[in-house]
Amino acid sequence: MTCKICGEAFYMKRGLFDLFNMKEVYICNKCYKKYPIDLSFLACQLDKYNCIIIPMFKKRYYIDFNAFIHEYTKIFIANYKRVGYKLFFFNHVDLSIDDTLEALDAISKLVRSDIIILCFSLIK
Ligand SMILES: [Zn+2]
Repeated sequence: MTCKICGEAFYMKRGLFDLFNMKEVYICNKCYKKYPIDLSFLACQLDKYNCIIIPMFKKRYYIDFNAFIHEYTKIFIANYKRVGYKLFFFNHVDLSIDDTLEALDAISKLVRSDIIILCFSLIK
């Protein structure tokens, strides 16, 4: 297989029981260690509703995030059925810009619900 991040070919070690497992893997072990997933959780109070921001990485990387499709699918499934929350997916959330919280506030008022923002990175 070819790593979607570094472009190098790599091989998956398979045993007898998963010999015919055809699950696609998009990231080599080297890139998986270089860009570690570090889930965190930030809750903030908006004007009327609550907002939970869940960034996948500790800092902003400039890589093809589609390589992490298995990981963010699992995170998405774990969160999309939370009662009372609407889930949104953003690439990056930058809290250093004043308009970001206003935009999140506007989104929560638009959907009239607490919101969860799943994103790749959170810039503070
Ligand atoms: Zn790689």
